Amino acid sequence: MQKQTLSFQAEVAQLLKLVTHSLYSNPEIFLRELVSNASDACDKLRFEALNNAALYETDFELKVRVSFDQVAHTLTIADNGIGLSLQEAIDNLGTIAKSGTRDFMAKLSGDQKNDAQLIGQFGVGFYSGFIVADKITVESRRAGLPVAQGVRWSSEGTGEFEVSEVARAERGTSIILHLKEDALDYLNAWKLKGIINKYSDHISLPILMQKEEWKDGENDQPGEMVFTGEWETVNQAAALWTRAKKDITQEQYDEFYKQISYDGEAPLASTHNRVEGATTEYTQLLFIPAKAPMDMFNRDKAAGVKLYVKRVFIMDDAQALMPTYLRFVKGVVDSADLPLNVSRELLQESRAVKAIREGCTKRVLSMIEDLAANDVDKFKVFYGEFGAVLKEGLGEDFANRERLSKLLRFASSTTGTTTVSFA
Ligand code: ADP
Repeated sequence: MQKQTLSFQAEVAQLLKLVTHSLYSNPEIFLRELVSNASDACDKLRFEALNNAALYETDFELKVRVSFDQVAHTLTIADNGIGLSLQEAIDNLGTIAKSGTRDFMAKLSGDQKNDAQLIGQFGVGFYSGFIVADKITVESRRAGLPVAQGVRWSSEGTGEFEVSEVARAERGTSIILHLKEDALDYLNAWKLKGIINKYSDHISLPILMQKEEWKDGENDQPGEMVFTGEWETVNQAAALWTRAKKDITQEQYDEFYKQISYDGEAPLASTHNRVEGATTEYTQLLFIPAKAPMDMFNRDKAAGVKLYVKRVFIMDDAQALMPTYLRFVKGVVDSADLPLNVSRELLQESRAVKAIREGCTKRVLSMIEDLAANDVDKFKVFYGEFGAVLKEGLGEDFANRERLSKLLRFASSTTGTTTVSFA
């Protein structure tokens, strides 16, 4: 097949301009975005392989490799996940499927810090590579396709991209960033490890980098770092919620929250527990945000809890895990009992899910009670943002009516502010 030159969808071209011009003050987030895409691609492979083990071919250990070439000025993020077919590369990297893109662009404030936090929320993660690169080459092969049906995609991030079919032995995707002159400081293992540590430590896959060692110079020549040819894992490679509470810092919790919620602000409160009941076993890591989202009163809005089964990602927005009036809660539930191929329909009917929902509801109410009792200022913030939604619970959640009513506050003619409770 010949090389094809195609134009980006108009929105992509516009978005690329915004990304490269408004996000340069926090350029390092490109690595977080690309590592997170690589990790998603591995999750997708693991999920599809539940019904088709052949997709693993002969390569069973899912991982992400970050490497660089000082001479070619390239930085490569490679995964052995699901990969892209030629058509998928055209569709997924040339257009924006999600309708939220316009919202994204409308929300860009010109304040680079805020804008940097917004990126990723609307599926613009991949394009953040153009903050540091003046050309990106993507080489990929979708799991299950023959070696001859690999794809090479490349673009300079202006109006067009090129695609062609290439032979590719390895399954998965390599994103090759041709770094701009002013981004060459990313060709440095120490710097890259620092960024991975900051943003991607909790990614449950191993992230590998080439091992380096110091070599003394000969005949008075300066020494230098050289690659040893081995790879080493540079992250913890354990999903955050599987780690012991005492080994997790507040910063790590906050960073994890920011990553799953796309919120720039640290959460107001969190709860992390492993529940081992008679009928069900699960881990919950739940957060109350500091700010309500703009669409909070839309009761059909996507819920914020992700479902994992035995550390395998199953779905975002698992509505069955949380009552509607607690739809502002973000986090992760990892169940040990549900089948890996559980569908949304099955979730609605599952007894294990019902037990999880009840458990999560109780935990969230405890979190709120704790704020009310021990941190008046935070409770005020919470109530200002979410009080109105919490009230919906009175009609929705009979079992917890009593507890809920004690948490509600009302304005009175004497105080004027919403401070009076029934309790
Ligand atoms: P998002 O990840 O939010 O959907 P991105 O712009 O980051 O948006 O990526 C667009 C799409 O490109 C993804 O949805 C996915 O289909 C595809 N993609 C990106 N990176 C990879 C990768 N490493 N492997 C496979 N597909 C990828």
